[in-house]
Amino acid sequence: MGVRSRADAFVLLVNPVQCDGYGHCAELAPDLVHLDEWGYPILGAEPRPVRDHEALHSARLAVRGCPRQALRIERRAAPERPARAGRRTE
Ligand code: SF4
Repeated sequence: MGVRSRADAFVLLVNPVQCDGYGHCAELAPDLVHLDEWGYPILGAEPRPVRDHEALHSARLAVRGCPRQALRIERRAAPERPARAGRRTE
């Protein structure tokens, strides 16, 4: 049995200095990227689970399709789940 990795979530990040604001990423990953009124991407800060294959695929498409290489995927630990009620810890 192996040790399970804690980096089982991801976020899509943008480097605002490199971004040209033409919004191609929003076409490639509409579920992850929204545009502000000037066309710059607004990305959700909440980590998404890597098992959300559709979201991860969209993020990879956006990273590959970004003409300025301004996007990257960062692996994160998934948010802690609250302990189940009624569970004994003795
Ligand atoms: S595709 Fe890249 S350069 Fe274009 S708006 Fe998105 S992050 Fe910025």
